[in-house]
Amino acid sequence: MTALTNQETIQRARRCTAAEDYDIGTRFPSVFVSAQGSWMEDVEGRRILDVTAASGALLLGNRHPRVVESITRCIAEHGTVFASTLSLPRIELAERLCERYPAGEKAVFSKTGSEATTAAIRLARAASGRDVILTSGYHGWHDWHLSYLRIGYDAGNRIGCFGYSRHALARMLDAFGDDVAAVIVTPEPAWFDEEYYRGLSRLCASKGVLFIIDEVITAFRWGVRGLNGTGNVPADLITMSKGLGNGHSISSVVGRRDVIDAYDTAGVAGTYTREVPPMAAALAVLDEIDGTQAHANAERLGGVLRDGMRDVLAAVGIPAVVAGPPMMFDVVMPSEQISWDVYRAAFDHGAYFEDSGTHMVTTAFTDADVDHALAAFEKGAREVAERHTFEADALSPERLAQFRAEAFGGELDDEVVRQRIEQTVQAVVERDPALARRLDPSCG
Ligand SMILES: *Cc1c(COP(=O)(O)O)cnc(C)c1O
Repeated sequence: MTALTNQETIQRARRCTAAEDYDIGTRFPSVFVSAQGSWMEDVEGRRILDVTAASGALLLGNRHPRVVESITRCIAEHGTVFASTLSLPRIELAERLCERYPAGEKAVFSKTGSEATTAAIRLARAASGRDVILTSGYHGWHDWHLSYLRIGYDAGNRIGCFGYSRHALARMLDAFGDDVAAVIVTPEPAWFDEEYYRGLSRLCASKGVLFIIDEVITAFRWGVRGLNGTGNVPADLITMSKGLGNGHSISSVVGRRDVIDAYDTAGVAGTYTREVPPMAAALAVLDEIDGTQAHANAERLGGVLRDGMRDVLAAVGIPAVVAGPPMMFDVVMPSEQISWDVYRAAFDHGAYFEDSGTHMVTTAFTDADVDHALAAFEKGAREVAERHTFEADALSPERLAQFRAEAFGGELDDEVVRQRIEQTVQAVVERDPALARRLDPSCG
C-alpha cells in the first residue's frame, strides 16, 4: 500500500474523528507525522516551520533533549502513576513554582488550562463563601463562561463579564463587591499594559475581592515569568498551563495558602492530577529557562520576527497593526479573510502561522528559522496584496474594535456598553441567593 497524501489522510480522518471546523476548516491541509525543534514533517514528507508553538503548548520545541531525557528517565526508572497523588516531582515542582511567582505560597495541579481556571474559581468561591465571579477574557471551554465575549451576567453560572472595562469593573464592585468571590482576568499584552492590570489588582485589593490572573498562556510568554512575575501586579491566585510541560499535559493553580487550602471544601479532584511524567517535563522546562539564555534568545528572535512582519506588511502595502511582546504578538489585517489568505499562501511557502494572528516562537527557533518564516510570510503577503487595493495606509478604528471584540471581548466605552453595565448590576443585585446555595453549598 502506498502512503496516503495529506488530502487522502484528511478524508480518512473526516470519516472517523475530525470536527469539520476545529480540525479541518480552521487549519492548513497537512497531517503531521513528526516534529523536531520548530520543524514539522507531514505525511508527504514536506517540512514546515511551526510559528504557532502548537497553540502555545510548546515552549522549547519538539523533542527537546532535556525534556526527553527527564521524561523517559521518569517513565523507565520511576513509573507513571502511583496509588497516592503525591510524588517527589510534584512536591519539587510546587516548591519551584512558589519560589518563581510572587503570588506563590502553595500550588496544586491539573491537566489543562480549562481545568486550572475552573479549579481556581471553585477555590475562590469555597475560600470566600461568596458566589459571584467577575471575568474578562478567555479561560477555556468549560460551561461557566460560555458568554465571556459580552458584558453581562450569566445567572446559571453566576458569572459577570466586564469586558476589560475598568469602569465597568469599578461600578460592579461598588454595587455588589461583597458578593464577589473573585475577579479573574486573562492578560492581553498587545492591548493592555502592566499598569492596566496593576489598576485591576489594586481595585480588587481595595474591595477585599480575590484577584486571579489567568496566565495559562502568559506565564512563560509575558517575559519569562508572566505578568505576576514582573513583580508589579499582585495576585491572590494565578493559573498556568501552556508551555509548562513543553507539550505534556499539565496545569497549575498557584497562590495564596488559605485559598488553595479550600481544595477539599471546593471538591476539586482528578485521577490524572497525579501523572508524574508531565511534572518531570515541567522540572526540565524550568531548568532550561531559568538556567540558560534560551528564553532570552527566543525573545530576541520573536522580536525580530514581529518587527520583520510589520516591515513586510508595510512594504507590500497591507494596512496592519502589529503589537505585543516578542513571545506572543498579534497581527491584525484589514479582514479575517485577508489574514487567512496571507497565512494560507505562507503555508504553501513552508511556514505554518496561526491564522487568528497571534504568533509564538519557541526556544528552538534559530536566526535561519526567522529568515525562513519572514520569507514565506513575504511571498504570501505579496501574492495577496497584488490581488487587492487598500483605501488607506492604516487600519480603520472600526476594524480594530471588531478585532478586539472578537479576539477577547474588549469593548469600547459607549452608551450601549454603559446600559449593559447597568443591566448587569441589576441582574446580579436581584439574583436569587437560594440558587447559589443549591448549586454550591460552600457559598451559602
Ligand atoms: C488556552 C487557554 C485556556 C484553556 O486551556 P486548555 O488547555 O485549552 O483547556 C485558558 N485560559 C487561557 C488564558 C488560555 O490561553
